[in-house]
Amino acid sequence: MEAQAHCPACGAPQQAEATCQDHFYQMLFWEAEVPARGAVHHLAVLCYHLQHPSLYSPEGLQAALRLLVMFVEQGVPPHTARQQMAADLQNHTIKIGGTADSFGQYAQPINWTFRAADVINNGADRYCESMRGWATAMLHDLRMSGNLPTA
Ligand SMILES: [Zn+2]
Repeated sequence: MEAQAHCPACGAPQQAEATCQDHFYQMLFWEAEVPARGAVHHLAVLCYHLQHPSLYSPEGLQAALRLLVMFVEQGVPPHTARQQMAADLQNHTIKIGGTADSFGQYAQPINWTFRAADVINNGADRYCESMRGWATAMLHDLRMSGNLPTA
């Protein structure tokens, strides 16, 4: 039997040359190809990192979760959210990126229903739609797993 490799962070089945990081680079390439797709760039960055939380510091992960709620539920435009994030960073001097010693992780395991590979499988033409679907699914999964309080 052949062993199936999985992404250690989000649990997605993966093959060489088709890791979550490869998928993320593909998203950025699609955005570069058609500038209109850049409208969901903030969601691509946020969703990819939230499903691979060790890329964040513990404080960075908390800030990112607040951003997800702002984007999905409150419809806050990325520009406004960035200003708020910048103010947070100045006030608390928090560090966003994770290190080997200090990185974000979830208290409860999560069964992600939508992952980076799903965005790619849906194709470039449905990119913006997929990205909004990914963000909405993530918020749902985070609540179902008990990592975020239900609204
Ligand atoms: Zn992954």
